[in-house]
This record gives sequence, C-alpha cells and structure tokens, in this order.
Amino acid sequence: MEAGHGKAAARGASPHGGLISAAIAPGCFQGLRWVVRPLARSAWSQGEVLAYPLERTVADDLIVQVKQANDIVDVVREYLPLRRQGRTYKGLCPFHDDHHPSLDVDPVRQRFRCWACGKYGDVITFVQERERCSFREAVEMLARRAGIAIGWGNPQRDQERSAWYELLRWAEEQYRRFLWESPRAGVAREYLAARGLNKETLVEFGIGFAPPEWDWLARRALHVGWTPAQLVTVGLCGQRESDAALFDRFRGRVLFPIRDVRGRTVAFGGRILPGSEEQPGVPKYYNSSDTPLFRKSEHLYGLDRARAAAEQCGYLAVVEGYTDVLMAHQHGCRAVVATLGTALNQAHLQQLKRYVPRVVLVFDADSGGDRGVELALQLFLEQDIELAIAQLPAGLDPCDFVRTHGREAFEQVLTQAVDALEYKLRQELTPTALATLAGRRQAVERVLQVLARLPARGSHATQVKRELAIAQLARRTGANEITLWRRLQELYRQSHRVPGDPEEPPVRQVAVDPLERQLLEILLAEPTLIHQVRSALPLPEIQHRGLRLVLTRMYRLAEAGLQPTVDRLRQEFADRPRLGEYLLRLHDRGQLLQNRDQWLQALLAAFQERRSQRLREQVQAQLRSLDSDAPPPTELLRQIQEGHSFPS
Ligand SMILES: [Zn+2]
Repeated sequence: MEAGHGKAAARGASPHGGLISAAIAPGCFQGLRWVVRPLARSAWSQGEVLAYPLERTVADDLIVQVKQANDIVDVVREYLPLRRQGRTYKGLCPFHDDHHPSLDVDPVRQRFRCWACGKYGDVITFVQERERCSFREAVEMLARRAGIAIGWGNPQRDQERSAWYELLRWAEEQYRRFLWESPRAGVAREYLAARGLNKETLVEFGIGFAPPEWDWLARRALHVGWTPAQLVTVGLCGQRESDAALFDRFRGRVLFPIRDVRGRTVAFGGRILPGSEEQPGVPKYYNSSDTPLFRKSEHLYGLDRARAAAEQCGYLAVVEGYTDVLMAHQHGCRAVVATLGTALNQAHLQQLKRYVPRVVLVFDADSGGDRGVELALQLFLEQDIELAIAQLPAGLDPCDFVRTHGREAFEQVLTQAVDALEYKLRQELTPTALATLAGRRQAVERVLQVLARLPARGSHATQVKRELAIAQLARRTGANEITLWRRLQELYRQSHRVPGDPEEPPVRQVAVDPLERQLLEILLAEPTLIHQVRSALPLPEIQHRGLRLVLTRMYRLAEAGLQPTVDRLRQEFADRPRLGEYLLRLHDRGQLLQNRDQWLQALLAAFQERRSQRLREQVQAQLRSLDSDAPPPTELLRQIQEGHSFPS
C-alpha cells in the first residue's frame, strides 16, 4: 500500500501531471470537472475521527517562525550530504534504497521531493519522517534547533514538562551511582551478575538500585531543590495522607529506567531482590503508574535502543521482561523490545509499524498460552503489519534461551517464526482433528469464529488477509470455499449487528472525486475561503470519507474562530503522517493557482450541478417506474422546479 501510494503520489506531484497544470486556465471553468486526472489513492481513507481538542494546537505564526528559522537545505544536510545542481540540491533519498541521487531539495520553495519514491514535504515533514515522530515533536525539535522557545499554547506547562524530564534524569543518576558505588548495593550487583548481565549492558540501559529506605530519594531530591509536587507527579514518590510526608515509591529494588523512543527517561520499573520476595503483598515487579509523561499500556521497553537495528533487519521481536531485552542486546540481538506487563495491543503495533513491517511475538511454551495466540491473531488480522509468533522450548524464557544457546540460535527462532494465522491453523488443524468429520467441522468453526471477530469493513490489508485465510482453510480441510464464506457471513450477522450499522459486505476504498479534491486544494491554499464553503456546501455532499473528515475538521476549526490552515490540520491529524503529507501536497498545488476565489465559485457551481444531476437521475428513475395513473412527466418536472415535494 505504501509503495503504491508513493508511486501514485509521485505521478500526481510531477510538474506537468498535477491537477493544476492539467486543468485549463482560470477563466475557462467549464472543463474543470473532466480535465483533471483521477487521484492518487491515499493511504488514509479508513477515516476515523481523531479526538484532538482544539486547544492543543500551537499557533500558526509560531510554526511559520520555526519553519523560517530552519532552512530545509541546512536541516536535510544534517542527515545526508547534498550537492547543488542548478536551482536545487540533490542527495541520496533516505526513504528508499537509493543509488542515484533522487532526492531534490528546493531552497526557494522550501520543499523536498524524491523523484523515485514520491516522498514530498517541507522541513517538518522531513524531520517527522527521519525521526519517526509526530508533527508536534518535529516542530519541537526544530524549535530547539533554532533556539525558539515553544509553548504549545502554554509556555508554563512546557517548562513544567522539561523539569519533569530533568528530574527523572537526575533520579536515574542517583540510583545508578548507588548501584555501582555503594557498599550497600553489593547484593544487587551480585544478583545482576548472577543473571549473566555484564556491566557494559547494565550501564547502557542505565540500571540502578534503590536502597530499602522509606525516603532515601525524597530527602536528596528536596535537598537539591525539587518540590514534593514534582516528585509525586513523575511517580517517584507518594505522599502520606495523614501528614503529607513523602515516601519513595521504589525501595530495595533494582531499577530499570524506562525511556521513550528518543531516549528520555519517563518512568522506572523495579524488581525486588530475591529473598525479599516472601514479604506479603510485595510484587516482584513494580512499574511507575501512568504519569503525564508515561503510559504503561502503550510503552515498549528498549525501543530507543532497538530502533536502528530493527530498521536494518526489518523486524522487531517483542518479549515480556526487562532482562529478556537486556540479555538479547548483550548478545547482539538488538531488535528486541518488551511490553510492560501488558499483552501486545493496538497501541503497541501502531508504534512498531513506524519502524518495521514485521513484528515477531516471542512466547515461551509455558506462558504463551492460547489466549496470547488468539490476541495476536486478532491484531495481526486487523493491522496492516506482519505479525509472527515464535515459540521457545518449554521452561526457557528469552533471557535464559539466548544466554544458553546464544545469538544465532535465538535469531533462528525469530526468523523461523510463523505467521499468526498459520500458527492458528496449525493449532486447530491437527491430524487428530482432521481425522474425523466432526473434528474437522469443529476446527473449521473455531477458525471462522476468529475471522468473524474482525471488522466487516476493515482496511484493504484486512480484506486480503481474510481472503487468504479462507482459501487456506478450504485447501487444508477440503471444505468448499463458498460454504466457508457463507458460514462466515452468518457469523458476522450474529456478532456484528449494531443498530444503525446496516449489513454491508466488505467494501473497497473509493477513489477521490477530482471535484472534491480540488475543493480541498483551494481551501488549504486559502483557508479564509472556508466561510463561503461552509455556507454553501453541507458536509454530506462530500462523498469521500477521508476528505469529508478533513472538511469536517476544517468547519469545526472555523466555527471555533480558528483558521483551518494546513499546519493546524497537520497537528490535528498528528497520528497520521501520511495524511499530513497528502494535505501539504494539496495545499502546495492550490498555491499554484491564481484567482482562487474565482476557482472556488466555479467549484461550488459544479457541486450545485452535481446535486441537480443527481436529482435529475432520481426523477428519471421515478419516471421510468411511473404507473399510468400517475401525473404526467411534465407535471412532475414542473413540481420539482417549483420546489414541491416529490410524489411518492
Ligand atoms: Zn525516495
């Protein structure tokens, strides 16, 4: 899908292939709807609404300031060498395997474009793509680079956050020094050595130790000027209700700093030392609870260290524990991360998808269990990602396995991992199950029930996977494919019937109507025109779901008294970099147009014409089905022209 999008996008963005140049000159509007070529199919037509509150967006002028202070040529040069060639600069494109310099950076327009893979954007897009970060994060980085203080609408809050990061960094330092320097940490050092972890690895991951005291960290922190509120907010301390005294959350534990993808410490995980485990009510592992900087259920431990290796080998392995990650890295298997005590979920996969096309879920035979496989299967089928399952021999967790058998054996397990779907099929379609008719029927039913839990109208990838699954199931059980589809439809009807959601078979994505796209191009280039559009064009008139979503958001911004500029929209759709890129492309095309106001009038007229056309078609359909005793057609048409209600 990505590749296809890229190619199509490259076509659309070529100097003579785009809408604007292909369409006729302003002033000659009649041909508008037909001259334009069909659209690049965008990767975002799945179109669910993101709930970003308006106040979280940064002022447009600040973004303009950040862009002005960061020349695209200078920024790109920090990542790769560029050579001047005529008006523009050329370099090897970092977004595909480039051997001839295909990347073109235009210092006048402040845009980059790859002629091979079609990537396109401004300096923010470039940083977003290179750093795999959100629009906001990219703006933050560029602001920092240019020394611009950026407050996302709230400078005080911004300062607060950087203080939290600083506090966590300071705490990590305290714990780490205690581990390596204090005689009282000897037992922790021995424990870690016994697990086979060497000092280099432990230092790389910033491992530390918290002494078993109630307020060891709190006392030091207050002494150097941190406030109780800060300590509580970042999850390092709690506060007693009776007298508001601070107490440390981590006591007598080996501490694993949990870092975000940019390597900043955001939380800690603590493991109790062996021997202390018998204390009642004391969990073996304790993680920071959620804070403004940390969400446990979405976090992947070790991603900051695994990211580069993963981009090279094309997959990331997901394990369960901190020490699994450490041991794998120590043995040179660096594409390994862990979830934090939760099962792999959609939020995890969303992040992983940014880096790799393939995720390998590592189960040990004991703990894996059927439930884990079912969950993995569901995720695999729903997400546009390869998800494979690797199983370790019983009794060995990844840490033990890699320690005992070494890197090559572990990598072999990872590369031999099977597709989640294949795994399920093998699990159900055992020789025993297939031996009898009843057994076969039950096995088929169980697989179909998994498939029926998918959204009926999933992404294109989901549909393809479902089709493959049915074909496989038919081939391996000898069942008739049509029978299987029919049974699947039945299961859908039983499980997916939601009021207001009519039974619809899975549908293909619809190409964007040129008329609708042109409207967006003009609006993005000239956001002040939104008011004219809002009064003339009701949202349901936009047929493409994705574009309707964008226009809905633009209307909402306008209602809130804000300009729906392309940069604001890119923030609004922060989780959808492809959509952001697409919107920027539309904006840039719109900017090539003179007389946007006139174009808009022509477009609105065309929408009006489309509406009438639809009405005419309805009339004709009605006319065809008219009984002889109905009013004559001329009468009917007159009624419609006069605005009478349509006879039923
Ligand atoms: Zn490229």
